[in-house]
Formats: sequence, C-alpha cells, structure tokens
Amino acid sequence: MLLARKGYRVLLVDKSTFPSDIMSTHFIWQRGVARLKRWGLLDAVVTSNCPPVTRFSLDIGPFALVGSPPPIDGVSEAYAPRRKVIDKILVDRAAAAGAEVREGFSVQEIVMDGGRVTGIRGRTRDGGMITEHARLVIGADGMRSIVARAVQAPEYNVIPPLACGYYSYWSGVDCPGGEIYVREGLAFIGFPTNDRLVCVVALRKVEQFHQYRANIEAMYLETLSAHPGFAARVRGGKREERFVGTADTQNFFRKPYGPGWALVGDAGYHKDPITAQGITDAFRDVELLVEAIEAGAEEAFAGYERRRNEAALPMYQSTCQRAALGPPPPEMVQLFTALRGNQRETDRFFGTDAGTVPIPEFFAQSNIQRITSVRQSTLQNELSLLCAVG
Ligand SMILES: Cc1cc2nc3c(=O)[nH]c(=O)nc-3n(C[C@H](O)[C@H](O)[C@H](O)COP(=O)(O)OP(=O)(O)OC[C@H]3O[C@@H](n4cnc5c(N)ncnc54)[C@H](O)[C@@H]3O)c2cc1C
Repeated sequence: MLLARKGYRVLLVDKSTFPSDIMSTHFIWQRGVARLKRWGLLDAVVTSNCPPVTRFSLDIGPFALVGSPPPIDGVSEAYAPRRKVIDKILVDRAAAAGAEVREGFSVQEIVMDGGRVTGIRGRTRDGGMITEHARLVIGADGMRSIVARAVQAPEYNVIPPLACGYYSYWSGVDCPGGEIYVREGLAFIGFPTNDRLVCVVALRKVEQFHQYRANIEAMYLETLSAHPGFAARVRGGKREERFVGTADTQNFFRKPYGPGWALVGDAGYHKDPITAQGITDAFRDVELLVEAIEAGAEEAFAGYERRRNEAALPMYQSTCQRAALGPPPPEMVQLFTALRGNQRETDRFFGTDAGTVPIPEFFAQSNIQRITSVRQSTLQNELSLLCAVG
C-alpha cells in the first residue's frame, strides 16, 4: 500500500483469500494505531465496531497496577480488530492505492539469477504455475518465509521458544480494558474485540505444551483460576469459538535484505506473542523499509536493518524475559511496589508496552531510582506520621 501510494508498480500475492483469519490475538498498541491513523485506515477499524482499549491492569498476585498509557501522535486508544477485519482493510487499501492484488496465489519458488533474486514462481487459484519478475521481491510472508529460506537469510539473537498458549473468544464477559495476569509459570490476558467478544489468552511454559494440548480446555481454565474473580467472569460467559494455540513461538532476527530481496514483519523479526508487539512492529518496519527502497542504495538497506534492530531490541529483551514466565526479578517487584499510588509513572510504565514511552528512558537507572525513592520517602512520611500520632 505504501509503495503503491508512492507510485511504485507493486504486485501483491498471498496464498490466502480475504477476509480470512490467521492465528493471532491481533492486539494493536497505540504505537501501531498511530500508524493506522497516519495511513488513513483508523476510521475503517473504528467503524468495524471494534472497541477502543485505553485502560490496562497488570495483576501480579499481591496487587494490581491500573493505568492508561500516555498518547502518541494524539492517539490514546489501542484496538484489537479481528484479523479477518484488519487484513481485509489492508489488502483493500493496497488495491485502492494501485497495487495489483492476487489472492489465492501460493509462492512455491524464488527465482534467482546468479546470486540475485529476480522474481517468484507460484501456483494461482486455478492451479496454473506462473513466474513473475521484479526488481525487488519483498518477503512479508511470516515467520516461515519462503523468501528468507530461499536466500538463507542469516539469523541472529536466536532464543528458543519459551511459552505456549491457547486463546478463544467469549461472549457475555465484562472486560472493557486490557487485563494482564502474571504468576510464576503462567500468564493470562483478556481484552475486547469485534462483535462484543472478549479474547482470552492463557499461557504456560513451553515444556508444558504436550500436557496442555492433551487437555486444552481443562488446562486453559485451570490457568485462569489463578485469579478466581477473572476466572468466574470468563466461566460466566459463553465460549463462541474453538481454541487456537501454539508452542512454535520462535524468537529471532534475520538479516532483512540482500541482492533483489528484502524481508519485513515476522519474516525478518519474530518473537513470542506475549507482549503483542508483532503487528505494531510490522507497521513500523514497513515504513522503515519503504524509506530504504526510496533511498535505493545498499547503505539505506543496512540503515533499515540497524534502525529496526535499535527500535526492536529493548522490547525483544523484555518480551523474552516475560515469556520465560519465571518469578519477577526482585528489582521488578520493587518497582511495581513503588508504582502503587504513583499514577503518572504507572501510566508511563504501561506506555512502555504501548510504545508511547521509550523503554530505555523509563527503565533508565536514574528514573527507576527516582520512582523508588519517591515511594520510599512517601513510606517514611507515612511512618513518621504514624509515629507522631502514636
Ligand atoms: C498466538 C499468537 C498471538 C499473537 N498475538 C498478537 C497480538 O495480540 N498482537 C500483535 O501485534 N501480534 C500478535 N501476534 C503476532 C502477529 O500475528 C504477527 O507478528 C503478524 O501477523 C506479522 O504480520 P506479517 O504480515 O509479517 O505476517 P503474517 O501475518 O504471518 O502474514 C503473512 C502472509 O503471508 C502469506 N504467505 C505465507 N507464505 C506464503 C506463500 N508461500 N505464498 C503466498 N503467500 C504466503 C500468508 O498467507 C499471510 O497472509 C501473535 C502471533 C501468534 C502466533
């Protein structure tokens, strides 16, 4: 869509037809919604009757933090449009921008000339094989990218799968905000989506996947029971769809460019979905890639990789740390404790997931010290007041 809008001749092929669903819990943080707004697509999401999400809670057991991330570019809402909604919007807008869209086209082979990618060969909807040539082949084809495989794109920062999980959609469950529950060895999350449904995800450590898969519903509900109130709300509703889940939650970066090819989205950078960053990141990276294509030179593509990695690494580390589902490190417990009653900093903490507050800025030692010392001095004041009263 972005390339077609800039006047490039674009052929977009996808083996799916749209609207269609794909495995994803499709939560788009404020940082991603801001791009939808900039591209003129936000209205279509809003009119799909997808409710905005502005309030989040993080329940770590002894207590919960509740807050609203600060806005970014005037956007303070997150949305979780179903993939059959958002993917259709994106494909239609690409076509409207002038891209030639061929649905039901499965790429079988990447065409090379010497070391350079020069096109694709694939099966059309009616079964014929077709070859198409292009100056640049962009693999926006997900974690198992055929483009990445064909060019043997080098992988780095690889971390094996850490968590596994299942999700489904429930009606009759009151959950207007994003609710995140974390306990040692498990986590679960609920948020609203289209059609008045609530998406509920229940995660366990990857080692438990065989046990989980053998008895999905029981283990899913057992996971939720770590918070009896939330579990009761979900049990009081009705499950409207089947369970969907995976343990194939790979974590890696790939070199995203080479002669005649580029990678974007999951094809170039994949991580555990626990922090729901994949779509938001893909939106960022397409903009970076389009800038590199416009600049044209090899250094511009190297710049694309560098900028992607710089932007992605802090959240990648946080995502992998959270996906391990271990006990929270003591300094995190100390921070959460200090955040209680400090609404401004709690909002900014949620902003680090929403992409509206930079992680390095919030988690800078000086900032953390400031937050924890404010809490300590408040505690000391309360204590001296009690002593004075006593
Ligand atoms: C369980 C789960 C939950 C998730 N939850 C969230 C979440 O809440 N929020 C979030 O931001 N992210 C989430 N993600 C991650 C998110 O889904 C991905 O990051 C996102 O879909 C990446 O988009 P993409 O376009 O790069 O790849 P994809 O969405 O995978 O799209 C790839 C496209 O390429 C097509 N394709 C693949 N191979 C071929 C071929 N050979 N020929 C033709 N077409 C092909 C596919 O049909 C598909 O349409 C989740 C992922 C999982 C697995």
